Amino acid sequence: MSEILVLGAGMVGVTTALALQERGHDVTIIDRNAPGRETSYGNAGLIQTEAVEPYAMPLAPGALLQIALGRGYDVKWNIPGLLSQAGAVFAYARNSLPAAHRRASQTWGKLIRQSTERHGPLIEASGADNIIRRDGYIELHRTPAKLEKGRKAVERFRTEFGVESTLLDGAQLRALEPSIKVDILGATHWADSWNCSDPGGLVARYAALFERRGGRIINGDAGDLHRKGAAWIADEGEGEHAVIALGPWSPMLLGRYGLKVPMVYKRGYHRHYHMDAPPHHPIADFGNSVVLSPMRRGLRIATAAELTSHPRLLPPQLSHGEKAAKELFEIGAPVEAEPWTGRRPCMPDMLPVVGAVPDQPNLWAHFGHGHQGFTLGPVTAEILAEQMDGGPGWSELSPDRLHR
Ligand SMILES: Cc1cc2nc3c(=O)[nH]c(=O)nc-3n(C[C@H](O)[C@H](O)[C@H](O)COP(=O)(O)OP(=O)(O)OC[C@H]3O[C@@H](n4cnc5c(N)ncnc54)[C@H](O)[C@@H]3O)c2cc1C
Repeated sequence: MSEILVLGAGMVGVTTALALQERGHDVTIIDRNAPGRETSYGNAGLIQTEAVEPYAMPLAPGALLQIALGRGYDVKWNIPGLLSQAGAVFAYARNSLPAAHRRASQTWGKLIRQSTERHGPLIEASGADNIIRRDGYIELHRTPAKLEKGRKAVERFRTEFGVESTLLDGAQLRALEPSIKVDILGATHWADSWNCSDPGGLVARYAALFERRGGRIINGDAGDLHRKGAAWIADEGEGEHAVIALGPWSPMLLGRYGLKVPMVYKRGYHRHYHMDAPPHHPIADFGNSVVLSPMRRGLRIATAAELTSHPRLLPPQLSHGEKAAKELFEIGAPVEAEPWTGRRPCMPDMLPVVGAVPDQPNLWAHFGHGHQGFTLGPVTAEILAEQMDGGPGWSELSPDRLHR
């Protein structure tokens, strides 16, 4: 029996296993899939040191009306999708009010600012340097009002959090990204963030590093996790301790242990497109609710949030994103026959869940990283590993805060 069994081989599970192994523990990972094939595969690939505030729900009356009427592309929903998570969505809205959001941002900002520092040594040790770029991403501003908002964000983030960024005018943007075909008023170059051209590949390399260092990965189902004597057992995996790092599937398992975990499941889609002259940086076109990331497979168009229990065959956010991308760039045919889809595991208070599961000896939780789990995995992994070694943990992240 290993000392610790980690359930889930996404970015969060694999970096948890690495952090525990680094501290001398004998660790096994179990996943029904290969490492990094679910949510950690499908994201926009940004390691976002600039994302110092978690995404709040837009609460201005105009924005809410847009969402309610199904206009705009930031948030789409349907009735079954909304009803199945109404309580969590309502709590998320409450926590998006300024005072609560400021409180969450204080913790979130501290986590986010450590992300490149934590990824750096793992990238080096796993030989993943060739899929990482360390020169930031670009956020487009198409109107004077958006440009002014961008200017304020640049100043505020620099003063409050030390985030490095540059405001670009149209000519500077053209010089940096000559493949953009149309005139854009300006942009922010978020310079100290990193990006990855193969997010699933990065998790796979971290997993290979874990194995090279003596760790074991089992292919199996974690859904039957149970206790037998002093051991936690799932399929062929056993450990004195177990860590639940199943991303959006975590609440389902914890429900079996009496812990009702409210989660907002923000579905996203992506698809790759052939492209001869891709941009040098990922381009965030928030006006069209997409991020366009140059990846190994082509230009990845990744969409914003959809509150639906089942994926749509023809997701409107992706069709709109494709149209917007074609206006900006010369892009070719889609690479895949079907778009990819997955769900961001978002907690109503916007903070990940990291710590001991109440009333369950040696059972630990590590999930709920929302829009930035690819960025934050190794940061909160270190916090959890320290707590499992007897440290106090971060009370703001503790599972104790979840309702029973
Ligand atoms: C469109 C989109 C864009 C995004 N862009 C970014 C970005 O640019 N930067 C960023 O930081 N974040 C981004 N995110 C968020 C980020 O991808 C997630 O927060 C993160 O991947 C969550 O990682 P995880 O390890 O918790 O979950 P996952 O990667 O989903 O891992 C969970 C694992 O659990 C396994 N599992 C589930 N159930 C079982 C079971 N019963 N038995 C065995 N195994 C099981 C799965 O196979 C999976 O491997 C984006 C998300 C989306 C959807």
